[in-house]
Amino acid sequence: MTIGIVGAGQLGRMMALAGYPLGFDFLFLDKDAQTPGGQVGPLLAGALTDRDLLGQLSQRCDVLTFDWENIPVESLEGLPGNARISPPLRALGCAQDRLSEKRTFELLGIPTTKYAAVDSRASLEIAVKNIGLPGVLKTRRMGYDGKGQFVLRKPADLDRAWDELGKSALLYENLVPFDAEVSVIAVRGADGDLAFYPLNLNVHREGILRLTRAPYGNAVLTRQAQRAARKVLEHFRYVGVLTIEFFVKRGRLIANEMAPRVHNSGHWTIEGADTSQFENHVRAIAGLPLGSTRARGHSAMINLVGAMPTRDPLLAEPALHWHDYGKSARPGRKLGHVTICDNTAKNRDRRAFKLLSRIDRATWLALR
Ligand code: AMP
Repeated sequence: MTIGIVGAGQLGRMMALAGYPLGFDFLFLDKDAQTPGGQVGPLLAGALTDRDLLGQLSQRCDVLTFDWENIPVESLEGLPGNARISPPLRALGCAQDRLSEKRTFELLGIPTTKYAAVDSRASLEIAVKNIGLPGVLKTRRMGYDGKGQFVLRKPADLDRAWDELGKSALLYENLVPFDAEVSVIAVRGADGDLAFYPLNLNVHREGILRLTRAPYGNAVLTRQAQRAARKVLEHFRYVGVLTIEFFVKRGRLIANEMAPRVHNSGHWTIEGADTSQFENHVRAIAGLPLGSTRARGHSAMINLVGAMPTRDPLLAEPALHWHDYGKSARPGRKLGHVTICDNTAKNRDRRAFKLLSRIDRATWLALR
Protein backbone atom coordinates (compact mmCIF):
# COMPACT_ATOMS: atom_id res chain seq x y z
CA MET A 1 0.00 0.00 0.00
CA THR A 2 1.25 3.50 -0.83
CA ILE A 3 0.27 6.43 1.35
CA GLY A 4 0.31 9.90 -0.22
CA ILE A 5 1.11 12.79 2.11
CA VAL A 6 0.21 16.32 1.08
CA GLY A 7 2.99 18.41 2.61
CA ALA A 8 6.43 17.04 3.49
CA GLY A 9 7.20 18.81 6.76
CA GLN A 10 8.36 17.14 9.94
CA LEU A 11 4.92 15.67 10.65
CA GLY A 12 4.86 13.94 7.27
CA ARG A 13 8.37 12.69 7.82
CA MET A 14 7.50 11.24 11.23
CA MET A 15 4.40 9.56 9.72
CA ALA A 16 6.55 7.92 7.04
CA LEU A 17 9.19 6.84 9.55
CA ALA A 18 6.44 5.21 11.61
CA GLY A 19 4.82 3.61 8.55
CA TYR A 20 7.84 2.03 6.86
CA PRO A 21 8.16 -0.73 9.51
CA LEU A 22 4.50 -1.63 8.83
CA GLY A 23 5.46 -2.28 5.22
CA PHE A 24 3.97 0.82 3.60
CA ASP A 25 5.41 3.04 0.90
CA PHE A 26 5.03 6.81 0.93
CA LEU A 27 4.87 9.55 -1.69
CA PHE A 28 4.99 13.22 -0.70
CA LEU A 29 3.82 16.37 -2.45
CA ASP A 30 5.65 19.56 -1.51
CA LYS A 31 7.41 22.44 -3.15
CA ASP A 32 10.88 20.90 -3.10
CA ALA A 33 12.80 17.84 -2.00
CA GLN A 34 14.75 19.81 0.61
CA THR A 35 11.90 19.29 3.05
CA PRO A 36 11.96 16.95 6.08
CA GLY A 37 9.72 14.44 4.27
CA GLY A 38 11.64 14.71 1.00
CA GLN A 39 14.75 13.58 2.84
CA VAL A 40 13.19 10.21 3.69
CA GLY A 41 10.87 9.42 0.77
CA PRO A 42 10.02 10.13 -2.87
CA LEU A 43 8.40 13.48 -3.56
CA LEU A 44 6.39 15.21 -6.29
CA ALA A 45 7.63 18.80 -6.39
CA GLY A 46 5.14 21.63 -6.86
CA ALA A 47 2.43 23.71 -5.21
CA LEU A 48 0.24 21.89 -2.68
CA THR A 49 -2.79 23.12 -4.63
CA ASP A 50 -1.55 21.95 -8.05
CA ARG A 51 -4.49 19.87 -9.35
CA ASP A 52 -2.29 18.01 -11.80
CA LEU A 53 0.15 16.91 -9.09
CA LEU A 54 -2.64 16.15 -6.62
CA GLY A 55 -4.20 14.02 -9.38
CA GLN A 56 -0.93 12.14 -9.85
CA LEU A 57 -0.65 11.64 -6.10
CA SER A 58 -4.18 10.32 -5.94
CA GLN A 59 -3.60 7.91 -8.87
CA ARG A 60 -0.35 6.55 -7.49
CA CYS A 61 -1.53 6.14 -3.88
CA ASP A 62 -4.17 4.10 -2.06
CA VAL A 63 -4.89 6.73 0.55
CA LEU A 64 -4.10 10.45 0.87
CA THR A 65 -3.44 12.25 4.13
CA PHE A 66 -2.03 15.58 5.28
CA ASP A 67 1.01 17.02 6.96
CA TRP A 68 -0.62 20.47 6.78
CA GLU A 69 -4.35 21.09 7.10
CA ASN A 70 -4.68 24.29 5.10
CA ILE A 71 -4.97 22.85 1.59
CA PRO A 72 -8.11 24.38 0.07
CA VAL A 73 -10.77 21.66 0.07
CA GLU A 74 -11.73 22.50 -3.55
CA SER A 75 -8.23 21.41 -4.66
CA LEU A 76 -8.85 17.98 -3.18
CA GLU A 77 -12.37 17.33 -4.43
CA GLY A 78 -13.00 15.03 -7.40
CA LEU A 79 -9.40 13.92 -7.91
CA PRO A 80 -8.83 11.11 -10.43
CA GLY A 81 -7.95 7.64 -9.15
CA ASN A 82 -9.39 5.67 -6.27
CA ALA A 83 -7.37 7.01 -3.36
CA ARG A 84 -9.39 7.48 -0.18
CA ILE A 85 -8.83 10.74 1.70
CA SER A 86 -8.36 10.58 5.47
CA PRO A 87 -9.19 12.50 7.55
CA PRO A 88 -12.44 13.45 5.79
CA LEU A 89 -12.54 16.72 3.86
CA ARG A 90 -15.44 17.95 5.98
CA ALA A 91 -13.22 17.85 9.07
CA LEU A 92 -10.36 19.44 7.19
CA GLY A 93 -12.61 22.26 5.95
CA CYS A 94 -13.95 22.88 9.44
CA ALA A 95 -10.51 23.05 11.05
CA GLN A 96 -9.27 25.48 8.38
CA ASP A 97 -11.65 28.18 9.60
CA ARG A 98 -11.63 29.29 13.23
CA LEU A 99 -15.28 30.36 12.94
CA SER A 100 -16.55 26.94 11.81
CA GLU A 101 -14.33 25.34 14.42
CA LYS A 102 -15.96 27.39 17.20
CA ARG A 103 -19.44 26.70 15.80
CA THR A 104 -18.70 22.97 15.75
CA PHE A 105 -17.55 23.07 19.38
CA GLU A 106 -20.79 24.87 20.26
CA LEU A 107 -22.94 22.48 18.25
CA LEU A 108 -21.38 19.53 20.07
CA GLY A 109 -21.73 21.14 23.52
CA ILE A 110 -17.98 21.57 24.01
CA PRO A 111 -17.29 24.75 26.01
CA THR A 112 -15.18 27.25 24.06
CA THR A 113 -14.20 30.92 24.26
CA LYS A 114 -16.69 33.73 23.67
CA TYR A 115 -16.26 34.71 20.04
CA ALA A 116 -17.59 36.84 17.20
CA ALA A 117 -16.87 36.94 13.48
CA VAL A 118 -15.28 40.23 12.40
CA ASP A 119 -15.38 41.44 8.79
CA SER A 120 -15.29 45.22 9.15
CA ARG A 121 -13.97 47.92 11.49
CA ALA A 122 -17.54 48.45 12.73
CA SER A 123 -18.03 44.74 13.50
CA LEU A 124 -14.73 44.75 15.42
CA GLU A 125 -16.07 47.55 17.60
CA ILE A 126 -19.29 45.64 18.23
CA ALA A 127 -17.36 42.44 19.03
CA VAL A 128 -15.12 44.26 21.51
CA LYS A 129 -18.15 45.92 23.08
CA ASN A 130 -19.98 42.60 23.49
CA ILE A 131 -17.07 40.36 24.47
CA GLY A 132 -14.94 42.96 26.25
CA LEU A 133 -11.22 43.54 26.72
CA PRO A 134 -8.73 41.97 26.84
CA GLY A 135 -9.32 39.84 23.77
CA VAL A 136 -7.54 38.32 20.80
CA LEU A 137 -8.21 39.18 17.18
CA LYS A 138 -7.26 36.24 14.96
CA THR A 139 -7.31 35.60 11.24
CA ARG A 140 -9.97 32.96 10.61
CA ARG A 141 -7.66 31.08 8.24
CA MET A 142 -3.99 30.16 7.97
CA GLY A 143 -3.03 31.02 11.54
CA TYR A 144 -0.41 28.81 13.19
CA ASP A 145 2.24 29.18 15.88
CA GLY A 146 0.65 32.44 17.03
CA LYS A 147 0.79 34.03 13.55
CA GLY A 148 -2.14 36.20 12.51
CA GLN A 149 -3.07 37.16 16.08
CA PHE A 150 -3.26 40.48 17.90
CA VAL A 151 -3.98 40.84 21.62
CA LEU A 152 -6.17 43.85 22.42
CA ARG A 153 -5.86 45.20 25.94
CA LYS A 154 -7.22 48.76 25.67
CA PRO A 155 -9.58 50.59 23.29
CA ALA A 156 -6.62 52.30 21.57
CA ASP A 157 -5.42 48.86 20.39
CA LEU A 158 -8.37 48.53 18.00
CA ASP A 159 -6.79 50.74 15.34
CA ARG A 160 -3.45 48.95 15.39
CA ALA A 161 -5.10 45.52 15.37
CA TRP A 162 -7.31 46.52 12.45
CA ASP A 163 -4.35 48.02 10.52
CA GLU A 164 -2.41 44.80 10.99
CA LEU A 165 -5.08 42.19 10.31
CA GLY A 166 -8.05 44.02 8.74
CA LYS A 167 -7.45 42.65 5.24
CA SER A 168 -8.42 39.11 6.29
CA ALA A 169 -11.65 37.57 7.58
CA LEU A 170 -11.28 37.63 11.38
CA LEU A 171 -12.54 36.28 14.66
CA TYR A 172 -12.47 38.10 17.98
CA GLU A 173 -12.47 36.14 21.24
CA ASN A 174 -11.91 36.82 24.91
CA LEU A 175 -8.37 36.43 26.23
CA VAL A 176 -8.63 33.55 28.70
CA PRO A 177 -6.54 34.04 31.87
CA PHE A 178 -5.84 30.31 31.86
CA ASP A 179 -4.24 28.28 34.64
CA ALA A 180 -2.73 25.85 32.13
CA GLU A 181 -2.94 24.67 28.54
CA VAL A 182 -3.58 21.03 27.67
CA SER A 183 -4.27 19.00 24.56
CA VAL A 184 -5.81 15.66 23.83
CA ILE A 185 -4.74 13.42 20.98
CA ALA A 186 -7.30 10.89 19.85
CA VAL A 187 -7.58 8.45 16.97
CA ARG A 188 -10.50 6.82 15.21
CA GLY A 189 -9.97 3.75 13.08
CA ALA A 190 -11.68 2.94 9.79
CA ASP A 191 -13.99 0.56 11.71
CA GLY A 192 -15.00 3.31 14.18
CA ASP A 193 -12.74 2.06 16.96
CA LEU A 194 -11.52 4.89 19.23
CA ALA A 195 -8.35 5.36 21.25
CA PHE A 196 -7.13 8.30 23.34
CA TYR A 197 -3.68 9.26 24.53
CA PRO A 198 -3.31 10.63 28.05
CA LEU A 199 -3.65 14.39 28.38
CA ASN A 200 -0.68 16.65 27.46
CA LEU A 201 0.29 19.66 29.58
CA ASN A 202 1.65 22.32 27.22
CA VAL A 203 3.63 25.53 27.61
CA HIS A 204 3.59 28.07 24.77
CA ARG A 205 5.71 31.21 24.45
CA GLU A 206 5.04 33.81 21.76
CA GLY A 207 2.30 31.51 20.42
CA ILE A 208 4.74 28.62 19.83
CA LEU A 209 4.68 25.34 21.75
CA ARG A 210 7.86 25.02 23.81
CA LEU A 211 7.33 22.22 26.32
CA THR A 212 4.92 19.29 26.65
CA ARG A 213 4.69 16.96 29.59
CA ALA A 214 2.56 13.82 29.60
CA PRO A 215 0.63 12.18 31.05
CA TYR A 216 -0.92 15.19 32.80
CA GLY A 217 -2.39 13.02 35.51
CA ASN A 218 -5.67 14.84 36.10
CA ALA A 219 -8.37 12.19 35.75
CA VAL A 220 -11.30 14.64 35.65
CA LEU A 221 -9.80 16.84 32.92
CA THR A 222 -8.64 13.77 31.01
CA ARG A 223 -12.20 12.42 30.95
CA GLN A 224 -13.61 15.82 29.89
CA ALA A 225 -11.05 16.12 27.07
CA GLN A 226 -11.62 12.59 25.84
CA ARG A 227 -15.39 13.12 25.84
CA ALA A 228 -14.92 16.23 23.68
CA ALA A 229 -12.59 14.40 21.28
CA ARG A 230 -15.03 11.50 20.98
CA LYS A 231 -17.84 13.91 20.02
CA VAL A 232 -15.74 15.55 17.30
CA LEU A 233 -14.44 12.22 15.92
CA GLU A 234 -17.93 10.74 15.75
CA HIS A 235 -19.48 13.92 14.35
CA PHE A 236 -17.17 13.80 11.33
CA ARG A 237 -17.02 9.97 11.07
CA TYR A 238 -13.36 10.80 11.28
CA VAL A 239 -10.54 8.42 10.37
CA GLY A 240 -7.04 9.19 11.67
CA VAL A 241 -5.54 11.26 14.49
CA LEU A 242 -7.24 14.42 15.74
CA THR A 243 -5.98 16.91 18.33
CA ILE A 244 -7.93 19.40 20.45
CA GLU A 245 -6.17 22.13 22.42
CA PHE A 246 -7.80 23.54 25.54
CA PHE A 247 -7.29 26.21 28.15
CA VAL A 248 -7.76 25.08 31.75
CA LYS A 249 -9.54 27.63 33.90
CA ARG A 250 -10.67 26.85 37.46
CA GLY A 251 -10.67 23.11 36.80
CA ARG A 252 -12.69 23.35 33.58
CA LEU A 253 -11.70 22.95 29.96
CA ILE A 254 -12.30 25.65 27.35
CA ALA A 255 -11.62 24.44 23.81
CA ASN A 256 -9.23 26.67 21.87
CA GLU A 257 -8.82 24.89 18.55
CA MET A 258 -8.62 21.53 16.82
CA ALA A 259 -6.06 20.13 14.42
CA PRO A 260 -7.17 17.39 12.00
CA ARG A 261 -3.81 15.68 12.19
CA VAL A 262 -0.94 14.45 14.31
CA HIS A 263 0.30 17.23 16.57
CA ASN A 264 3.46 18.70 18.03
CA SER A 265 2.16 18.07 21.56
CA GLY A 266 2.11 14.33 20.73
CA HIS A 267 5.74 13.97 19.68
CA TRP A 268 6.55 12.40 23.04
CA THR A 269 4.48 9.35 22.00
CA ILE A 270 7.30 8.24 19.65
CA GLU A 271 9.33 7.02 22.62
CA GLY A 272 6.84 7.51 25.46
CA ALA A 273 3.81 5.46 24.38
CA ASP A 274 3.20 1.86 23.30
CA THR A 275 2.22 3.11 19.82
CA SER A 276 3.15 6.58 18.59
CA GLN A 277 0.54 9.05 17.31
CA PHE A 278 2.22 8.73 13.90
CA GLU A 279 1.90 4.95 13.77
CA ASN A 280 -1.70 5.13 14.96
CA HIS A 281 -2.54 7.67 12.28
CA VAL A 282 -1.02 5.40 9.64
CA ARG A 283 -2.79 2.37 11.09
CA ALA A 284 -6.15 4.18 11.10
CA ILE A 285 -5.98 5.51 7.54
CA ALA A 286 -4.70 2.15 6.25
CA GLY A 287 -7.62 0.31 7.88
CA LEU A 288 -5.48 -1.56 10.41
CA PRO A 289 -6.35 -2.17 14.08
CA LEU A 290 -5.28 0.70 16.36
CA GLY A 291 -2.32 0.23 18.68
CA SER A 292 -2.25 0.75 22.44
CA THR A 293 -2.04 4.42 23.46
CA ARG A 294 -0.70 3.64 26.94
CA ALA A 295 2.10 5.91 28.18
CA ARG A 296 5.32 4.17 29.10
CA GLY A 297 6.25 6.18 32.15
CA HIS A 298 6.45 9.99 32.14
CA SER A 299 7.70 12.00 29.17
CA ALA A 300 8.71 15.56 28.42
CA MET A 301 9.23 17.04 24.97
CA ILE A 302 11.10 20.30 24.36
CA ASN A 303 10.89 21.97 20.97
CA LEU A 304 14.09 23.22 19.34
CA VAL A 305 12.98 26.54 17.90
CA GLY A 306 14.95 29.05 15.81
CA ALA A 307 18.41 27.48 16.22
CA MET A 308 19.59 23.97 17.01
CA PRO A 309 21.52 23.64 20.28
CA THR A 310 24.84 21.78 20.27
CA ARG A 311 23.88 18.14 20.01
CA ASP A 312 26.66 16.13 21.58
CA PRO A 313 26.59 17.44 25.18
CA LEU A 314 22.81 16.91 25.22
CA LEU A 315 23.17 13.33 24.03
CA ALA A 316 25.15 12.68 27.21
CA GLU A 317 21.85 13.12 29.09
CA PRO A 318 20.52 9.62 29.93
CA ALA A 319 17.66 8.41 27.70
CA LEU A 320 17.40 11.63 25.74
CA HIS A 321 15.94 11.24 22.24
CA TRP A 322 17.16 13.72 19.66
CA HIS A 323 15.09 14.68 16.62
CA ASP A 324 16.61 16.95 13.98
CA TYR A 325 14.16 17.73 11.16
CA GLY A 326 16.94 18.74 8.75
CA LYS A 327 15.54 22.26 8.23
CA SER A 328 17.47 25.49 7.81
CA ALA A 329 17.47 27.77 10.84
CA ARG A 330 15.14 30.77 10.99
CA PRO A 331 13.81 32.68 14.05
CA GLY A 332 10.62 31.08 15.34
CA ARG A 333 10.97 27.99 13.11
CA LYS A 334 10.57 24.53 14.64
CA LEU A 335 13.79 22.73 13.73
CA GLY A 336 13.65 19.68 15.96
CA HIS A 337 12.71 18.41 19.41
CA VAL A 338 14.08 16.33 22.25
CA THR A 339 12.17 13.89 24.42
CA ILE A 340 13.08 12.42 27.77
CA CYS A 341 11.24 9.64 29.56
CA ASP A 342 11.43 8.80 33.24
CA ASN A 343 9.83 6.54 35.81
CA THR A 344 8.15 9.26 37.87
CA ALA A 345 6.57 12.60 37.06
CA LYS A 346 8.77 14.25 39.69
CA ASN A 347 12.03 13.02 38.12
CA ARG A 348 10.76 13.85 34.65
CA ASP A 349 9.91 17.42 35.69
CA ARG A 350 13.24 17.96 37.43
CA ARG A 351 15.16 16.79 34.38
CA ALA A 352 12.88 18.62 31.93
CA PHE A 353 13.39 21.97 33.69
CA LYS A 354 17.14 21.47 33.84
CA LEU A 355 17.17 20.73 30.12
CA LEU A 356 14.91 23.69 29.41
CA SER A 357 17.37 25.99 31.21
CA ARG A 358 20.03 24.85 28.71
CA ILE A 359 17.92 24.72 25.55
CA ASP A 360 15.29 27.45 25.93
CA ARG A 361 16.28 29.85 28.69
CA ALA A 362 13.50 32.35 27.94
CA THR A 363 10.80 29.74 28.55
CA TRP A 364 12.62 28.44 31.59
CA LEU A 365 12.81 31.97 33.04
CA ALA A 366 9.12 32.55 32.31
CA LEU A 367 8.19 29.36 34.19
CA ARG A 368 10.31 29.97 37.30
P1 AMP B 1 -3.66 29.36 18.68
O1 AMP B 1 -2.97 29.56 17.37
O2 AMP B 1 -5.07 29.80 18.69
O3 AMP B 1 -3.48 27.96 19.21
O4 AMP B 1 -2.88 30.29 19.72
C1 AMP B 1 -1.54 30.06 20.10
C2 AMP B 1 -1.37 30.32 21.59
O5 AMP B 1 -1.71 31.70 21.88
C3 AMP B 1 -2.27 29.50 22.49
O6 AMP B 1 -1.75 28.22 22.72
C4 AMP B 1 -2.28 30.37 23.73
O7 AMP B 1 -1.08 30.25 24.46
C5 AMP B 1 -2.37 31.77 23.15
N1 AMP B 1 -3.80 32.13 22.96
C6 AMP B 1 -4.49 32.05 21.81
N2 AMP B 1 -5.79 32.42 22.00
C7 AMP B 1 -5.91 32.74 23.29
C8 AMP B 1 -7.00 33.16 24.11
N3 AMP B 1 -8.22 33.38 23.62
N4 AMP B 1 -6.76 33.35 25.43
C9 AMP B 1 -5.55 33.15 25.96
N5 AMP B 1 -4.47 32.75 25.24
C10 AMP B 1 -4.64 32.53 23.92
